[in-house]
Amino acid sequence: MNEKILEVLKKFWGYDTLRPLQESAIQSALNKQDSVVILPTGGGKSICYQIPAILSDGITLVVSPLISLMKDQVDGLVALGIGAIRLDSSLSHSERRDSEKELIDKSIRIVYISPEKILSENFRNLLLEINPQAIVIDEAHCLSQWGHDFRPEYHKLGSLREIFPNIPFHAYTATATESVRNDIVDKLNLRNPNILIGNFDRPNLFYSIRQKNQLSHQILNLVMSHKNESGIIYCIRRKDVDDLNEFLRSNGISSMPYHAGMSNEERKEVQDAFRTDQCETIIATVAFGMGIDKSNIRYVVHAGMPKSIEHYQQETGRAGRDGLEAECTLFYSGGDSFVWKSILEKNSEEYNSDPIILENRLRLIGEMENYCRYRVCRHKTLVNYFGQNYEKENCGACDVCTEEREEVKEATLIARKILSCVLRLGERFGVSHLISVLRGENLKKIRELSHDKLSTFGILKEYPADTLKDWINQLVSNQFLEIQGGMYPIVKLNSKSHGILRQEIEVELFVSKSNPILDGKGETSQKSENWEGVHKDLFEELRLYRKTMSGIKNIAAFQIFSDATLRDLARVRPSDLNHLRMVYGIGEQKLKDYGEQVLKIIRDVCREKKIEMDRFETQRVPKPEKKSKSDSGISVTKQKAFELFEKGVPIDEIANELSRSHSTVLQYLSERLLNSDFPERISYLDEEEFRRIESAMKKVGRDRMKPVYLELNETVSYDKIRLAFALERGKNNESQISSK
Ligand code: ADP
Ligand code: ZN
Repeated sequence: MNEKILEVLKKFWGYDTLRPLQESAIQSALNKQDSVVILPTGGGKSICYQIPAILSDGITLVVSPLISLMKDQVDGLVALGIGAIRLDSSLSHSERRDSEKELIDKSIRIVYISPEKILSENFRNLLLEINPQAIVIDEAHCLSQWGHDFRPEYHKLGSLREIFPNIPFHAYTATATESVRNDIVDKLNLRNPNILIGNFDRPNLFYSIRQKNQLSHQILNLVMSHKNESGIIYCIRRKDVDDLNEFLRSNGISSMPYHAGMSNEERKEVQDAFRTDQCETIIATVAFGMGIDKSNIRYVVHAGMPKSIEHYQQETGRAGRDGLEAECTLFYSGGDSFVWKSILEKNSEEYNSDPIILENRLRLIGEMENYCRYRVCRHKTLVNYFGQNYEKENCGACDVCTEEREEVKEATLIARKILSCVLRLGERFGVSHLISVLRGENLKKIRELSHDKLSTFGILKEYPADTLKDWINQLVSNQFLEIQGGMYPIVKLNSKSHGILRQEIEVELFVSKSNPILDGKGETSQKSENWEGVHKDLFEELRLYRKTMSGIKNIAAFQIFSDATLRDLARVRPSDLNHLRMVYGIGEQKLKDYGEQVLKIIRDVCREKKIEMDRFETQRVPKPEKKSKSDSGISVTKQKAFELFEKGVPIDEIANELSRSHSTVLQYLSERLLNSDFPERISYLDEEEFRRIESAMKKVGRDRMKPVYLELNETVSYDKIRLAFALERGKNNESQISSK
């Protein structure tokens, strides 16, 4: 079974291995068991239902909420040589007739369909005639009122179960909360579903939070450091979108705006320009959202704080879906939460002035603000927020973990000055007023309140406001000080503050040293690693070719080649079709459609620049998600597996018996095989085969399995190659094996 999956993955997508959760999801579908699969954006959900659709008889229906999403998915599948169509209200009469006729044609495997269409009475007969082998509900959180994107049509999808009591249903979403998950199971009437939850960390995203300080220039610098790369800049209000767009355009950036105030046609034009890489920079409100599945977005900027952590995660999640490095920068100021609160007040009819809803929304804003204010690793905070553990001490990919900071002398004295000012202000004012008093600013409000008469007026006037704000945030994040209240938060003391004032507690405060990464003058180790060996001029030629083809064919640029594939092409520089086939992301259809032209570009550039070709030893593929807790076996299971290995039980049988995925069992086996006196090695991988694989590895390199597989004329299974790799690499390398 596993072999077939890998074959399909290689033939159509040009990938070598599945990510850990994908295999379990695919197995569920092949076993016809209902499932709920929760993977973060970019986690690779589509393949999970597309592969079973290819491997099964009959048609798979995929319900999807947005026409643009369906179009991209269908374009993408057709570009891979897989029979797919869509049925939705945007099709003309004749297009619809053609599609419906094609349906009867055996080559169609996947049909994307809108919820309205699948539920419509007119369609019922055809639906019964199609007799799908499975129904997939994509973006399944849309059926839950607890989700952030509730759609009434989705709510009714549960009735499908009555029409098709006997076929499996599979729900997919990136929303991790338990209430949404339970809702999905309930509303769709799922039966004993296999619930698979992926790891929510996105290690390739570099998160940072920066204080606003001449915002439009900060953004301009950031955009300029991403020349020729796609990015989205999110603003809170439409007006901010238009202003920023004008500013960037007047500085030579050909950006485009996107917000709900534009007409449908205008918005479609912007989306198309972005998909096909004709426009690289989009400035948008949150209206620019779910339809965006472009995989090569290299940066997402927030020109203001989003209104919840869930929104932040969704919006930043659009970056780096291809697994390559991407930058997510949020420019923050205390005023942002005020903007959100006023919007909330203005739109009070939206929630019928219900105090509970209001309180809930304020809480979400407060949580987001704490995220900005506290100096805790961003990856850790996000992963914990979604209920998972984060194990790394230092993520190496956020401002907090990479910023070098210097300890401030006399920190305790400074803290005491801040706290006593809070006390003098009667614990009744917000952060910005506190800072103005500490700095001794000559303001009307201060004079009116006679705060210029306080003993703490101007007591820290030698420090800039930003530094004071940073220190107050540090005190708050260490619980030496509190910020409380809904609409107008105020600074308050707590028992620890009094301890400091009584000189019983010492405090540490820090100032940031300059940071080349955050200043856009340096690059992260991940970025330099992902670009290693890539010939930049060749990459640029290939990128332009992709852009041209995308424009001509009107399909998304990333569906022609992902950024990872472009980089691998410019790194490996294959000289002929056989070598090209071994490049990451090149399947049979891509080879046919673009092979000759790509080879010509590569040959020409290599000849002109006198650079070497066929450098497979340099090949790199993006690292997949880490194995999640829910997907990893417990030691008892492993022990059981070891016993079964000794009896020589086939891997698939063990997987079945222990309810573990094939690849997990393979990993256990690799571990077990490392034990030198393990006689069962013979039944899983004999000496002769091991030697053959070893000599193939010597010839084509030890980085990836695919070249080895091809070198052996596809006569030795991937399982065996994987075991041989494990034996070669030795202990503690399991994670690498599964990633190659
Ligand atoms: P999601 O729908 O979960 O956001 P996608 O299905 O769009 O994610 O996949 C994200 C990217 O990862 C796509 O470019 C896809 O081709 C790629 N991808 C998915 N599975 C694999 C895999 N097993 N190996 C390599 N790349 C993969
Ligand atoms: Zn970190």
